[in-house]
Amino acid sequence: MEQKHVCLVCGKSFTEGQGIILTIADRKLEFHSKSCAYKFLKEVIMNSEKDCISSPLKDVYKKYSDLLDKREKIEKKI
Ligand SMILES: [Zn+2]
Repeated sequence: MEQKHVCLVCGKSFTEGQGIILTIADRKLEFHSKSCAYKFLKEVIMNSEKDCISSPLKDVYKKYSDLLDKREKIEKKI
């Protein structure tokens, strides 16, 4: 039998393979869609202490801006 999951935000049920399932801080988070996941995670981020979020934010920001830089350099070569 397929395992059923229930969206944490809107209560819609979905089956394995659909939706988004994340485990953060030992807590399993289940969302039926990206928009529900976004809504929830945005709220988590907005409610986080600035000091808590600034370090990971900086790291992830840097990761993606570095990737963009690399992509730009590759595109210029072509
Ligand atoms: Zn939902």
